[in-house]
Amino acid sequence: MNRKRVCVIYTGGTIGMFPTENGYAPKKGFFAQAMGEISDLKSTRMPQWELIEFDPLLDSSNIAVSQWNQIGRAIWENYNSYDGFVILHGTDTMAYTASALSFMLEGLSKPVVITGSQIPLSQLRSDGFDNIITSIMIAGQDRVKEVCLYFGGKLIRGNRATKSSADGLIAFDSPNYPYLAEAGIDIEYNDTVLYKSEEKSQLNLVELKQTSIGVLKIFPGIQFSLFESIMTERLQGIVLETFGTGNIPSTDNELPHIIEKAFNHGTIVTVCSQCQSGTVRLGAYETSSALSKAGAVSGFNMTTEAAVAKLYYLFSLGLSRDRIKELMEEDMRGELSK
Ligand code: ASP
Repeated sequence: MNRKRVCVIYTGGTIGMFPTENGYAPKKGFFAQAMGEISDLKSTRMPQWELIEFDPLLDSSNIAVSQWNQIGRAIWENYNSYDGFVILHGTDTMAYTASALSFMLEGLSKPVVITGSQIPLSQLRSDGFDNIITSIMIAGQDRVKEVCLYFGGKLIRGNRATKSSADGLIAFDSPNYPYLAEAGIDIEYNDTVLYKSEEKSQLNLVELKQTSIGVLKIFPGIQFSLFESIMTERLQGIVLETFGTGNIPSTDNELPHIIEKAFNHGTIVTVCSQCQSGTVRLGAYETSSALSKAGAVSGFNMTTEAAVAKLYYLFSLGLSRDRIKELMEEDMRGELSK
């Protein structure tokens, strides 16, 4: 039987870090050696894998649009040579990168699994071993055809993932969508919820452009006038993290006016919820209808990570504001349900 081929792309993150006098930092060249020493990865029952190591290696707090494009290009250039891809990445912004790649890789029909660890491989009790081994196995099986995130035994749709624990080994959750698979003794896939890509679809990479995007979390007592200064023509999109189903305080009547002004400037205002699970329902309460009247769009049950990535993607496509507004409310890659 021909063994599957998996391309492993190491971008940085805790998994390959070492303690330094300033805290953990990635070390060039360490990863190839560390992977070579993991006996499971030498088994002939594993897919064959090859490693691409980025230079410089990054703490994922420093990941931005240019690194997303670099990862996207690495997948695109190697797409026909491999059956699947594993991206090793820091956990801090992993859900943003997974969301961004899900939009950038149009027509994807192979597994792209993003993973990392909370404890470096160089330290005792590292969770990185299972995360790498299982991710390579998943990338070498023909089951998922989408960008997903594997961590702590759970396989999550990339654009549904959110980092839910700063220090737990089960660090990610999928609050609004079932797990794609769970890895216990066996890897049990939940076939009914996997993304159905078009047969024989052609991969197209959309590189993202730097776009002026903001995220504003609403809190009790917020003085909206303080934020008016950021809502200029320069701001292309903003995600509002509102209360519950999309509510904002209505005693300070300035926000709808500011949103309306932003909308007239062409800013796309997307309403998400601060709650991890559940969905935005604009108009369900008086405190949210002002937002839709002012031209805001609903992010339904999208994570903030997915909403930010989707704004980058839609602006990079060069679409009209009206079309971007429409598409923000539509399900494009399984990132939202209504
Ligand atoms: N700060 C690290 C990073 O995101 C944390 C991690 O990898 O878990 O790169």
